[in-house]
Amino acid sequence: MYKVMAVNAGSSSLKFKLYEMPEEKALTSGICERIGHDDGIFTIRDKEGNKVTKVLPIKDHSVAVELVINGLLEHHIIESLDEIKGIGHRIVQGGPYFSDSAIFGEDGDTEKKIESLIPLAPLHNGPHLIGYRAFKKALPNVGQIAVFDTSFHQTMEEADYLYPIDPEYYEKYQLRRYGAHGTSHRYLSEIAQHKYLHDKEDSRIITLHIGSGASLCAIKDGKCVLTSMGLTPLGGIMMGTRTGDMDPSVFNYLVSKTGRSAEEIFQEFNKKSGLLGVSGISNDTRDIEAAYHKGDKRAILAIKMWALKLSQFIASYACRLGRVDIIVWSAGIGENAPFYRQAVIDECAEFMGLKLDKKLNESTIGKEGVISSKDSSIPMVVIPTDEEIMIARDTVRLLKL
Ligand code: ADP
Repeated sequence: MYKVMAVNAGSSSLKFKLYEMPEEKALTSGICERIGHDDGIFTIRDKEGNKVTKVLPIKDHSVAVELVINGLLEHHIIESLDEIKGIGHRIVQGGPYFSDSAIFGEDGDTEKKIESLIPLAPLHNGPHLIGYRAFKKALPNVGQIAVFDTSFHQTMEEADYLYPIDPEYYEKYQLRRYGAHGTSHRYLSEIAQHKYLHDKEDSRIITLHIGSGASLCAIKDGKCVLTSMGLTPLGGIMMGTRTGDMDPSVFNYLVSKTGRSAEEIFQEFNKKSGLLGVSGISNDTRDIEAAYHKGDKRAILAIKMWALKLSQFIASYACRLGRVDIIVWSAGIGENAPFYRQAVIDECAEFMGLKLDKKLNESTIGKEGVISSKDSSIPMVVIPTDEEIMIARDTVRLLKL
């Protein structure tokens, strides 16, 4: 028995979850928020599962890591630091370099490559490395690995990952579709393949990771064929605050018409568009659903646009795969929002023969279960995603624990 930690370090936060392995028993989890502020917030679950929160200055990520380690000892979740045998870090962008998770080795190669990709994920890769280095300083003898959101998507073919522009841009600037949520899509497809398709050969799966950020993945025989996010998470379907795919000239037109800077418009496409932008209400589907039932026109339009876009992507992914054995719903909306699942299926039922079982759809909230009716052309299931357990499993696999 030994312990492994999954870490997700952001610019001002650091999330962690500690597992006993190989049992995969979650021992605790928590988060340091407002790193860099005098009123930072440290939250950890004690042995009884209660949340314990402290407000205190968290100057930088090294202080955050100290808080995590001391918190584990103080709450007797571990008695000695030696019990921690490995740490796995979520890394958003692995570029073209990583088709699997990778060890942070002595040669510094993994670290250098992640660093070189900062321009592709400026808000993420830098802070991930700061988190890694803070743990390295605090626990120098513990093996650490990187688990990339993009690595699962590295099996896409050139024709799927390149954009219809001069391929020289790829050679020069690494400009291509990388996708995201890969760890989640990998987790979902593994469960679907094993539990629902009984490890059948030549399996074809569509996974829907539909939260505030959202992406689809078409998976053939356990390998990603196509995913909807692009160079960055802005691409693909309409999301909570992001536009998804759009005619690129919208960008130019808005810059010239509004006189606002390219950066401002770009930020608007990322943070103020999608369900929030169209509804003018919220990026949270619950708020928009409430307004929909009151007859709010923009809420109705937002949900219609969102459902149309997602249904069109599902149909096109079915076309790309040639056949679909199962569709998996997951993440905040996919797991919890029967109304939105029904709205999507309403748009592609006639063409694809998809049918939800009304009762199963409405009762499957925040838990795993089949939601399609027996006469649906393709079975559909909800599987709550778990990226942290994949990070813990990869840590054990790569460090040979
Ligand atoms: P992200 O990780 O991209 O921030 P999540 O997967 O946590 O997103 O999903 C968050 C979104 O899921 C919320 O904005 C909301 O729209 C939706 N959501 C979460 N819980 C529920 C719920 N119980 N009912 C309906 N929608 C929910």
